[in-house]
Amino acid sequence: MVLAALLPPLMLALGEGTNMNDTDMQIQWQEGSGASVEIGYFNPNGQQCCGHCGVSGTDHGQYAYKTECTICGYVYGTNGSDMHERRCPNARKGLRG
Ligand SMILES: [Zn+2]
Repeated sequence: MVLAALLPPLMLALGEGTNMNDTDMQIQWQEGSGASVEIGYFNPNGQQCCGHCGVSGTDHGQYAYKTECTICGYVYGTNGSDMHERRCPNARKGLRG
C-alpha cells in the first residue's frame, strides 16, 4: 500500500488540513503526460485527476497527483501510474465488503 507513504509529501505541498478555497498559497496544478493524468480525467471508480504540483510520488518517475473522489469529495494523493485504477481510500472505512 503506497498511499501512506505518498500522503506526507502531498500534504506538505498542499498544507496540512488545507481548505483549497481558503489558501494564500498559489499552487499551479499541472497535467501529466497521458490521457489518465489529464486534469479532469475520471477513472472508472469515480476518481478525478486534479493534476500535480511538481511533488514526486512514491513510484519511480511519477508525480503525486491530487485526486478527488467525486462520490464523497475526499481528496488525496495518487501516483500518476495508479490514476487509472485508483479507488477512494475513504469509501473503504464505512462500507462493508
Ligand atoms: Zn470517496
